[in-house]
Amino acid sequence: SEQAAGLDVDAQHLPGWRRAYSGKVRDLYVPQDASDLASAHSVLMVASDRVSAFDHVLEPGIPGKGALLTQLTRWWFDRLGFPTHLDPVQDVPAEVADRAVIARRLDMHPIECVVRGYLSGSGWAEYQQSQSVCGIPLPAGLTDGDRLPEPIYTPAYKAPLGEHDENVTFERTVELVGEPTATALRDASLDLFRRASAIAEERGVILADTKFEFGDDPATGVLTLADEVLTSDSSRYWDAELYAAGGPDRLASFDKQIVRDWLAAHWDRHGTPPSLPDEIVERTAARYRELIERLTGGAGGA
Ligand code: ATP
Ligand code: MG
Repeated sequence: SEQAAGLDVDAQHLPGWRRAYSGKVRDLYVPQDASDLASAHSVLMVASDRVSAFDHVLEPGIPGKGALLTQLTRWWFDRLGFPTHLDPVQDVPAEVADRAVIARRLDMHPIECVVRGYLSGSGWAEYQQSQSVCGIPLPAGLTDGDRLPEPIYTPAYKAPLGEHDENVTFERTVELVGEPTATALRDASLDLFRRASAIAEERGVILADTKFEFGDDPATGVLTLADEVLTSDSSRYWDAELYAAGGPDRLASFDKQIVRDWLAAHWDRHGTPPSLPDEIVERTAARYRELIERLTGGAGGA
């Protein structure tokens, strides 16, 4: 949407850094002396409290969200055993210490590496049309929320600014980035997903699906995990106990589902969405806190 397309959102002035780009939720900065993103050695990624749904940034933000998601990303990076873009040397500016990371600027691959262990969301929608997701045929008779026989890789092409990401087949990613990289992205994504699912499951949380992004380190060429990882913005998490009980709330996700449900009931999807009531904001904030407490064992309390 237009809101995502540029620099029209408020962002902080951070000495030594210059804002290069604002997504719907995060602000990307480059060192003051870098002429643009492509020539920067490092990037500062600041996670705001903004929340988006149905492609719109909503008012107000969710207090604490940016810090919680940053903390969750760091927690996962420490546990995945895969090279990450984090720069352990430089210090994050104090103003944003709890909700930003400094990363090496990577040559990003334009693929959203989605892995699904369960059928839901856009995967469920596509399955109902074709009994397949991103060209991968699936068994007949599956329903929303069903566990898949094994996790599947369902990539999306990261469309240029302002355009919608598009689900693609693995073969299409080979055309886009070449066979060696396409294969490496798929294998790394499936492996990371299996590892993360096992860790989440030990904590009573189901990782239904998630999205990774990777880039090549420009200095070494090493394939490196980028962006945020395994946050509730990039993943669908369910409570394992509720899921097993099979009730109507078995697919209640640990994210902005509360926001989406409220909006769906109070907005016809035309024009500017209404402001979120305090009660919805607070319940959503509590949901984000609950996920991080479950996963990290209470270390994430805000
Ligand atoms: P949306 O608002 O839909 O998420 P977006 O993905 O463009 O749109 P952000 O996620 O806020 O917005 O932007 C972060 C951007 O930074 C993404 O384009 C991501 O690919 C890129 N990125 C993440 N890590 C790195 C890195 N280490 N080097 C360079 N670019 C990176
Ligand atoms: Mg993004």
